[in-house]
Amino acid sequence: MRGVFSITKTYYNWFMMTKILSTRRLQLLLILLLIVSATGCGTKSRDSIRPPQKNVKKPKAPPIDLQKIKPNELGKVLILEYHDVSDKEARWSRHYNNFKADLQRLYQAGYRPVSLRDFVRNRISVPAGMSPVVFTFDDATEGQFRYTDTAIDPNCAVAILEDFHEKHPGWALEATFYVYYPNPFRQPKLIEKKLRHIISQGMDIGNHTYSHVNLKKLSSIDAAKEIALSVQAARNYAPKAIVDSIALPYGLGPVDEAVLRSGEYDGQNYQNIAALLVGAEPALSPADTKFNPYRLPRVQAIQSELDMWLGYFKRHPEKRYISDGDPDTITAPKSLAGNIDHGRLAGKRPRSY
Ligand SMILES: [Zn+2]
Repeated sequence: MRGVFSITKTYYNWFMMTKILSTRRLQLLLILLLIVSATGCGTKSRDSIRPPQKNVKKPKAPPIDLQKIKPNELGKVLILEYHDVSDKEARWSRHYNNFKADLQRLYQAGYRPVSLRDFVRNRISVPAGMSPVVFTFDDATEGQFRYTDTAIDPNCAVAILEDFHEKHPGWALEATFYVYYPNPFRQPKLIEKKLRHIISQGMDIGNHTYSHVNLKKLSSIDAAKEIALSVQAARNYAPKAIVDSIALPYGLGPVDEAVLRSGEYDGQNYQNIAALLVGAEPALSPADTKFNPYRLPRVQAIQSELDMWLGYFKRHPEKRYISDGDPDTITAPKSLAGNIDHGRLAGKRPRSY
């Protein structure tokens, strides 16, 4: 505001002078000078209020004992794949009590949630010594998100995630729900309310195609249509939704991988930064030269697979992504330094020990 006042004042002074001098050539010259001085004046007064952004220093992460924490930001990451969450434990359903136990187990074992987007963008931000874990939910079943009358069912996945987040400081509320249409979460009158709720809580809606199709069997045009319509539907219900990753139904993508990355149908554009497979192992670090965001493996969140992979990382901590706690560096043991993809550092400084 200060800038505006001083511009008005300056303008007034020049205007009075031009009136007094009142020759046409002088007026033109003075108007020119006015423009130059007004522009300069505005910039100067803004600078005096707020220093330029580049001079603002980010807080530095405290130094860590590398030998004690043994960070390995080239280690592997668990992307967990849930389907239904219900009162049954089955191949495609996790009992809600077991889901609650999964969160507790991961928490105690030093895992902390990051979004799929931050993982793919190599913006993993968890404290030193902790490991990222990515939560994904496929098929938008009612057990993932259910309302009873007006309240959220405390035993659906969304409520369990929110409750755990509230009770455990440092446990971020991050998950992506890979939904398909026309009836995601199976309570047709509440679709808009649910999708908006997910977005308002900072979680994400992902693409699982519009009608849960096998993309491999479709022409490129039809595959693009299925992907684009899913984005369009999400944004119709929740305009703030950013749908930028896809979980491939049956783990199968279109023949032409370019269709997966970006496309358009009937005026609806889409861009996917990642595509998720159905199985069957932890994913490579996003800083690894072999990282392929369009073929991301996941670990099925069923008892046997969780036991196997959590047990594996316990026995082989050197295989697990362990954060250095510093968002500005990528730290790995010397033996793995050659695996760093310098094109995917996202501004971070590589460091080995
Ligand atoms: Zn599915």
